[in-house]
Amino acid sequence: MEKEIKLKIKELAKKYEKDIVKFAQKIIQTPSFSTKEEDLVKLIKKEMQKVGFDKVMIDRMGNILGFIGKGKKKIMVDAHIDTVGVGDPKAWKIDPFKGIIKNNTIYGRGTSDQKLSIASMVYAGKIIKELNLANDYTYIAVGSVQEEDCDGLPLLHIIKKEKIKPDYVVLTEPTNLSVYRGHRGRMEIKVVVKGKSCHASAPERGDNAVVKMSDIVKEITELNEKLKKDSFLGKGTVAVTYIECKTPSLNAVPDEATIYLDRRLTKGEDKKLAISQIKNLPSVKKYKAVVEILNYEATSWTGLKVGQEKYFPTWVMEENHPLVLAAVKAGKVALDKKPLVDKWVFSTNGVASCGRLRIPSVGFGPANEIYAHSINEQMPIDHLIKATVFYSTIGSFITEKQKR
Ligand SMILES: [Zn+2]
Repeated sequence: MEKEIKLKIKELAKKYEKDIVKFAQKIIQTPSFSTKEEDLVKLIKKEMQKVGFDKVMIDRMGNILGFIGKGKKKIMVDAHIDTVGVGDPKAWKIDPFKGIIKNNTIYGRGTSDQKLSIASMVYAGKIIKELNLANDYTYIAVGSVQEEDCDGLPLLHIIKKEKIKPDYVVLTEPTNLSVYRGHRGRMEIKVVVKGKSCHASAPERGDNAVVKMSDIVKEITELNEKLKKDSFLGKGTVAVTYIECKTPSLNAVPDEATIYLDRRLTKGEDKKLAISQIKNLPSVKKYKAVVEILNYEATSWTGLKVGQEKYFPTWVMEENHPLVLAAVKAGKVALDKKPLVDKWVFSTNGVASCGRLRIPSVGFGPANEIYAHSINEQMPIDHLIKATVFYSTIGSFITEKQKR
């Protein structure tokens, strides 16, 4: 990319700062909890049309997509635009839905995690269009829904059901303006063990399911210590997060017990391995416990029934993959220095794009992830402008690399 173009992009990002900030404030003023994103989708649609996207569409699930350019390579830049709730509103020092700015920082639910990235992405579209940058690629800005409920599902829908398949994906969850190239996967597992009920005054006549489950819980805790480690992604983990039982009364021996597990998967761990590890525990075998993966089911704001198995595969990109290298170049333009390359601690839509579908994916987002889901959620305004520069340039860098 020529120096003048880089300068021009930065100039324009600065020039549009007021519009970007105004749009960002409107985004925060429009609540968008998972499955209730309709108002925000419509606001984004209007802004995309206003700044001159070639095509704007809302898909059947209710995701919003804006397209610029006719190039063969499709670069999909994704921001999930749903947020979690606010908890106790009185705990917030600054109103979560006003879009208040103090000391060049914007506050509110979704500033960090992560709907404000869409403001940068929409104005990057305006810059790409104005400077005619998308000759060798098509820029697709996606505002995806229901990510907080089921990470990956919206991208899986766009790619599999709407048949819009990108060559590259850029995730815009908070990275504090670093380049992120992966994170651990995760899954939710249920283990059920049966027993035999009887009067609790003579427990020896029955077969206590809770007692059996306590053996299983102990072995799962031991299993956690032995799970695989990876120097970049960290260790695989398994934790019991919920327990329940069925019993006819408090004076009876329970005849069924169930636990739920949160399993984090590091590099080299997948669904098959994780399930077999539980199934092979001596007590699970002995008591013939049933092990299964949970399912997510919901209705999107458009009324579409959506769902999937709660398995979110690990993904990690090699440090020298062309997309990661392009992201580092784009980061250099945005920051005037080499960006850090790291990983997320939490999970993102990358579990679908890269984890399931093996589409090269990379992350670069404004804001710091430490504020995600917190009562002082915030983002420095200059992050929005730097991210705008990044999204305006990444497509050129990745296609430039391809031509050589
Ligand atoms: Zn998020």
